[in-house]
Formats: sequence, structure tokens, C-alpha cells
Amino acid sequence: MSYQYLIDAHVHLNNYHESTRRPTAEHALDLFAKMDEIGIAHAVVITSYKIDLDRPSVEELLGLLTNHPRITLVEGLRWRGEPRSDLFSVEERIRDGEVKGIKLYPGYDQYPINDPSLETVFRIAAKYAVPVLIHTGDTYSKTAKVRMAHPLLVDDIAVDYPDVQFVMCHLGNPWFQDAAEVLYKNDNVFADISGLTLGEFTYEFERYVAMRLKDMITYMGNPGKQLMYGSDWPLVRMKPYVKLLNELNFDQEQLENVAWRTAARLFRIDAAAWANGRPASPPPAPPGPAPA
Ligand SMILES: [Zn+2]
Repeated sequence: MSYQYLIDAHVHLNNYHESTRRPTAEHALDLFAKMDEIGIAHAVVITSYKIDLDRPSVEELLGLLTNHPRITLVEGLRWRGEPRSDLFSVEERIRDGEVKGIKLYPGYDQYPINDPSLETVFRIAAKYAVPVLIHTGDTYSKTAKVRMAHPLLVDDIAVDYPDVQFVMCHLGNPWFQDAAEVLYKNDNVFADISGLTLGEFTYEFERYVAMRLKDMITYMGNPGKQLMYGSDWPLVRMKPYVKLLNELNFDQEQLENVAWRTAARLFRIDAAAWANGRPASPPPAPPGPAPA
């Protein structure tokens, strides 16, 4: 079974190893090369909750990628640590269409996602109809508080803000069952399947994750409605991830939704334009980042 297009709804342009540190523009070229190799039509690039040598700011990425036809930018917020994100600037970028979503990092940034202070953030998301992405589940950092990233807390905000669309990143790993319940219960909650392993899946772990995901999909009833493909590249490799997608036994309709339709709708990616005269191929691929 195959799908018409593939959108990777979760990638980064961060460096995760000092030894492979390089300029962001080079990193972006690498992303496009990987997308071409794997057949990814479009990628959602998400910035971090902190900015340093290894984590480019949203301003830097805007300089490289504004209006790039194959990239959607989502801005990660810093809400507890310093320096805190400036919400006025965030709102301006969203208003101007430069940024198409907000990412929150509860746990890493040591607040729970149902913290009342987030109301202003959710109001902005509702006003401009952009999704709020949330890190859920396991954190790669020992200084993060994982309880605060539990997927069940997403139910609180899904109920309190019915006019906001939320995306649980990583399916609340390893609390898949709780994430499935939150998805099943709330029509305004979505999830991506990104970041369930680091690097390559070992054979055993791949089987395990596929099994847990299949369980979850059975529980949810209609996974085509809310699940999105995403990898978490460069933390994981793209190829094993596409393989995982193909092993989840979706029917054709569900697969098209998971592969691209749901992401295209949430992030307002103009996938219809791709279909003009090129039914089964990815959109035209510019050689690299758009000129700034
Ligand atoms: Zn990520």
C-alpha cells in the first residue's frame, strides 16, 4: 500500500552532537537532501524551547526558510526558564503567517500543560487558528520533570479550550493508552508518532513499538482522524520511520490521512497545489533553502 504524499510533521534543525555541529544553512540543505531521498514532500520544522549554539532561534530559521514551499515553521516557546519567549513577537510572526504553530515543552521547561498561566498562549492559538504542539511523555533530559509531560494532562486543556487544536507529540510515550484515551475522547486533540526511538530501531524494539501502536490504534477506533506521520529527525533516522508507518496496517483512507491529509489541514499546507499535473509525485524540489 502506498500514499499520495508524505508530510513529516515533526523535524528539527538542532544539533544533537557537538562533533557534527555545523551552520544551520548546511543543516537545512541536509534536511532537503534527506526529504528527496525518502520522498518527503513537506516538513514541519519545530524550534526548541531554548536557543544556543546547537538550537537555532526562530528568527534565524525565518531568515533561511521564510515562504519556502516545502517547509512549515512552528515556534517553540520558553515559558518557565530564562529568557522567556516574548509573546508579542510570537503573535506577530503568527499573524504575518511566518509561523504556523506553537510548540510547548512541559516537563523540559518544568511546568504542567494545564498551568493556568498558559491561557494567553491558547488565546493566541485560537485567534489565528494555529495548532498548539505539546511534548508528551519521555524526556531525553535528566533535569526535566516527566510527570508534567504526561499525556493525560492534555485532556484538561482540550476541554477548557475547545476552539484550540492540540497535537500530542510522541503519543505520550510510554503512556500510549492514556494518550489513546485523550484522543478518543477529544475531537480537538491530534498526535504525531514521532520520536519513539533514538537513531535506528533495533529489530526487537521496532516490533515492540509497532505492537503498542497497533494496540493503541485499535483502542482509538478511527486513527485516520487524528494521527499524523512525523519522525523527529535528526534525532531519529527517516528511513526506519517510514518503514514503521508502513507496518501499522492502516487501510488506504487512514493511511492517506496519517501520511499527509491531517497535517495539511492542521498546518494549512497547500497540498492541493501539488496535485496539478503531478498526481503521484512530490512537489517540485528547489535545490536548497529559499534565498533570504
Ligand atoms: Zn522533537
